[in-house]
Amino acid sequence: MSQTESLEFKAEVRQLLHILSHSLYKEREIFLRELLSNASDALHRMQFEMLTNQDVLDPDAELAIHVDFDAEAHTLTVSDTGIGMTRDEFVENLGTIAHSGAMAFMKNLEEGQKVEDIIGQFGVGFYAVFMVADEVRVTSRSYRPEATAWTWTSQGDSAYTLTPADKVTRGTVVEVQLKEDATDFAAAWRLQQIVKKHSNYVSFPIYVEKEVANQQTALWRKSPQDVSEDDYAEFYRQLTLDFEKPLLHLHIQSDVPVDLHSVLYIPRHRDRGVLRMRADYGLKLYSRKILIQEDNKDLLPEYMRFVEGVVDSADIPLNVARETVQSSRTIGHIKKALRSRLVKELRALGDEKPDDYKLFWETFGAFVKEGVSSDFGGRDDLLPLLRFTTSKSGGALVSLMEYVGRMPETQTELYYILGDTLDAVAGSPHLDYFRAHDLEVLYLVDPLDPFMVQSLREYEGKALKNVDDPDLKLPDADTPAAPETGAELSPAAFGQLIVRFQGVLGEGVKEVRESKLLTDSPCRLVSAETGPVREMARVRRLLEQDFEIPPQILEINRGHPLIQNLAHMIEAQPFNPLIDMTIQQLFDSLLLLEGLHPNPAQMAPRIQKILEQAAASAAKTA
Ligand code: ADP
Ligand code: MG
Repeated sequence: MSQTESLEFKAEVRQLLHILSHSLYKEREIFLRELLSNASDALHRMQFEMLTNQDVLDPDAELAIHVDFDAEAHTLTVSDTGIGMTRDEFVENLGTIAHSGAMAFMKNLEEGQKVEDIIGQFGVGFYAVFMVADEVRVTSRSYRPEATAWTWTSQGDSAYTLTPADKVTRGTVVEVQLKEDATDFAAAWRLQQIVKKHSNYVSFPIYVEKEVANQQTALWRKSPQDVSEDDYAEFYRQLTLDFEKPLLHLHIQSDVPVDLHSVLYIPRHRDRGVLRMRADYGLKLYSRKILIQEDNKDLLPEYMRFVEGVVDSADIPLNVARETVQSSRTIGHIKKALRSRLVKELRALGDEKPDDYKLFWETFGAFVKEGVSSDFGGRDDLLPLLRFTTSKSGGALVSLMEYVGRMPETQTELYYILGDTLDAVAGSPHLDYFRAHDLEVLYLVDPLDPFMVQSLREYEGKALKNVDDPDLKLPDADTPAAPETGAELSPAAFGQLIVRFQGVLGEGVKEVRESKLLTDSPCRLVSAETGPVREMARVRRLLEQDFEIPPQILEINRGHPLIQNLAHMIEAQPFNPLIDMTIQQLFDSLLLLEGLHPNPAQMAPRIQKILEQAAASAAKTA
């Protein structure tokens, strides 16, 4: 034909083609998976189009895929009756339009990812065919009645041609001229085997030599008894392209209040495959096996966005706009059912498989916390999913139920401590009292925790209290542990000390007073506020660059040797510079432990001076 046009691929596609056609890949068979996946997409889109549009070419054609071959001529053909492509769509989809995916794909290849694991994920799956092809011809006719047919041809080098074609039926035919070392793909058993392995769940029939080669059943509509563990794992693989087994799968079937068939998965990783920060999260939504939406975000609460899977409901009207799907009552019912089932299964996992649950918690615990903060109606449901390390758990994870279960009878509140790291909270002076009285304290060191505790004010009717809360109802409040040293400070000496602290710290503290609770530590900071204001201050410190924590109350342990020696120094040598340096350093160390110090590096010169003095006086007495 005379109207052949020659067009150039973009540089990155050329590069991609060069790599694919010149390297030797073990798993070349996946080129077929990619062609079949494109055919299946085109059929799904056709199916959806026919729901709303009467005016299509070949309305009665069977929605199916045919794989044919010629063993002598070394050719392979994949044809579908899908949506097809116009000339412009050819250029856009397989041609000259820039492919950001090509760059991303190559970058991941360089990083050592396998072609077969990633090629489907960057919108470049089609080009996989050049691993096995010397030449590829794609002839397509769009479903639009007025469109004409075109043939796209390329040898996988820098250019392709577009030629008008005389295909009269709707859909796409991909003809592959196999490379000399790839001729074994032109065999029925081989093709059948590949279809079964990679494309079994494509929901349209795939004919190899007039025989349907794929199982095609919608797994989610089968009875769970008829589905094996391997089937679930394989379906997950084909659904997500995640080649690691999921952590958990669940299969939901019900008919009241809505018809519902769903298979959901919890992946093993947060950043599964190469799709870090997947923006297109969501569930595949079907109605009677017809794909309505690829990534529906309304079927689960947002904090469950790590869940993968499919949902099929006959109660979802087929011919409705997406916006109405979103607001339909049916979706509301489904969402409720899926959410409650997921929570139930996760609770069971926690009870029955603690190791798996630990992995879940470490991977997705942040999402549960997000849920506790945001799901006002469903919060109580989520509380059993929470896990914490505590002052008594030795690093193990503890649920709130376990915590409450081992509370002494006299304890009426749950205690937690907020901080930046486990080490910081474990060494905190706030724990003096709790250690001395063998009371367990929850360690909250995740950046999300200050948010979460604002919503988590009680558990089973018992208040959750910050250990620095000034009005704790402590079980043994009137028996503070006795000071260690015999030498009691006189009220006058202690009064002077307090005045000195106030003088040195000035605006930095709201008040300086004696502590009733400290035993091993010289001092601690407690909040001047009660309630969520304090947690909010922590949150704001993370979010606002120049936010300053409001001044707190400094409590001093009158029985601590360091405090006593300071008081003696104030009486005997009030101008010794070590006094003020020590006071300032005590305060800074507290801020550091609390995770509230604005600039810890500032402390270094002072610490050095203190050390110099200590060394000098040690040398003198030696
Ligand atoms: P992806 O499938 O991820 O979009 P591909 O490289 O596999 O990336 O395909 C590129 C595009 O080419 C598809 O998005 C689609 O628009 C078009 N395409 C490929 N094969 C077909 C087909 N059989 N029928 C219709 N369009 C197709
Ligand atoms: Mg594709």
